[in-house]
Amino acid sequence: MAKRDYYEVLGVARGASEADIKKAYRRLARKLHPDVNPGDKAAQKRFQEVQEAYEVLKDEEKRRAYDRFGHAGPGAGPGFGGAGFDPRAPGGGFGGGFGGAGAGQGSPFETFHFESGDLGDIFGNLFGGRRGGRPAGPQPGGDKQAEIEVPFRDAVLGGTQTLMLRRETACPTCGGTGRQGKGPCPTCRGAGIVAESERIRVRIPEGTEDGGVIRIPGKGESGASGGSAGDLYVTVRVTPHPYFERHGNDIHGIVPVTVKEAYAGAEIDVPTIHGTMRAKVPPSTQSRQKFRLRGRGAKDPRTGQLGDHIYTVRVMVPKTVTPAGSDAATLLDSLYDADVRADLPKGL
Ligand SMILES: [Zn+2]
Repeated sequence: MAKRDYYEVLGVARGASEADIKKAYRRLARKLHPDVNPGDKAAQKRFQEVQEAYEVLKDEEKRRAYDRFGHAGPGAGPGFGGAGFDPRAPGGGFGGGFGGAGAGQGSPFETFHFESGDLGDIFGNLFGGRRGGRPAGPQPGGDKQAEIEVPFRDAVLGGTQTLMLRRETACPTCGGTGRQGKGPCPTCRGAGIVAESERIRVRIPEGTEDGGVIRIPGKGESGASGGSAGDLYVTVRVTPHPYFERHGNDIHGIVPVTVKEAYAGAEIDVPTIHGTMRAKVPPSTQSRQKFRLRGRGAKDPRTGQLGDHIYTVRVMVPKTVTPAGSDAATLLDSLYDADVRADLPKGL
């Protein structure tokens, strides 16, 4: 059987906004979820289909590729329908009156003709009143998602970042109808929506972790009929630091020491995210031994508690070899109380 067009699966127009796609997906997912339809094989299949479609259409890049190449992927070449149209399918594709799908040329935004079918109630809600329609009165806007790349320093110590937010609004020229006079609207090329960017300053709280989410009230989808705007949820991606590594709220770093410092003990400078700290290396410190500086790590963004700084010692052997150096090393060699490789296995 021919694969159905993803837009058709979700029941949205080709020019649908991110929010509309998400709304359609949520509505369908609620209706088709296996928990709601135990043992219903058809619903299960539809549910999978809906999820697959959403995976592609929610992702700006995947969606663009799909718009251009359809299910076939970029290798299919020109002339292949943008909507996954299969001319061999009985009835010429998906039926149900999706005009123009698979034409492979002309406007990338197909006109959406919906007739009726099992998804009627969903379409009714989506497109304002085929069945039931939107309730009157203010409609709050939906939430939006975004991602932001944050330097390690700003994530750990706090800072601000600028986020460029792409938002889709009704085309000001045609008012969202996609048409002007007898032809398609020149501003939005018939889509009815245009994209605009907004610069948003995002405050990064001290201690923000990779994958952390910052909520910005009122920066989601705008509401309708005077309803309040939704919220924006920004997922933080922290750029790794070349030296410091964060594990939970602890910060890790490696500190090289000389043979003498490791053997006799020393006080050394240890870099932490809060600056350099004087710290002790006890006598007879081994390479890869770890030490902890309490409260010198990252702040837990929820509890406000500080993690620790953990430094790992690396014993550096001088690169210059001299007879005097070898004599000193021989002296050290006589001080081991056991064979250093005594605990190694003989093989597998
Ligand atoms: Zn327009």
